[in-house]
Amino acid sequence: MKIDVLTLFPDMFRGTLGESMIGRAQENQIIDIQITNIRDYAENKHKQVDDYPYGGGAGMVMQPQPIFSALEAIQAEHSRVIYMSPKGRTFNQNMAIELSEEKRLVFICGHYEGIDQRVIDSWVTDEISIGDYVLTGGELPAMVVIDAVARMIPGVLGQKQSFTDESFYGGLLEYPQYTRPSEFQGLCVPDVLLSGNHKKINEWRKEEALKATLNNRPDLFEKYILEKELDKYEKKVIDKLLNDNISK
Ligand code: SAH
Repeated sequence: MKIDVLTLFPDMFRGTLGESMIGRAQENQIIDIQITNIRDYAENKHKQVDDYPYGGGAGMVMQPQPIFSALEAIQAEHSRVIYMSPKGRTFNQNMAIELSEEKRLVFICGHYEGIDQRVIDSWVTDEISIGDYVLTGGELPAMVVIDAVARMIPGVLGQKQSFTDESFYGGLLEYPQYTRPSEFQGLCVPDVLLSGNHKKINEWRKEEALKATLNNRPDLFEKYILEKELDKYEKKVIDKLLNDNISK
């Protein structure tokens, strides 16, 4: 996948996207990330990129010309062009999966009070927010989306298992994970995980996933029990959890 990022702060990306799995995916040419400095495309003498908002109000707005020119230079015409914005649709795992199927993504990072609306009207195909809070710039949000999207691309994580078992993928949060040693400072790993009995292990994991989801994300839990076809074991566990909850 080819990923372009348009930003006023290219250095913010260098460390983050060069490390760990995303770094390796770039080395292995599974993803190719190009960072473009919007300021390089400013056509005025002082390389100014922002100006006061028409109609008044606080802060500065990023001007259309440098962003239009940068988008033209990277030939973004037929690509998904994503503007990171608190006004966008809230990002989630399904969006990460959907975007991971594209050949190319272009991200525009806003700064100050945001970007001129004409950029959005002329170029942007998707406005994405990473949550209901306002950050100083779109750089961290773009990195969040790139990271979540990239790890859905085949070959970026080790085994397919690594994400099909994870939080959100099947509609539930993940069960607790343990690794060696089996006892640490008197704290023991649940016996069932050491039993080698895969049926029991799967049942334990399902129960723990349901429990975590009910406790931390009742909204997801409700969706899960309404929308999924539950097997006998799940029904039994859900009845038990709901009864426990009522008697608490
Ligand atoms: N005035 C704008 C906020 C500007 S914040 C408003 O009220 O909607 C500056 C930039 O940070 C935005 O252009 C956007 O690119 C980015 N940004 C801030 N919060 C964000 C969020 N929750 N999700 C995605 N991008 C965000």
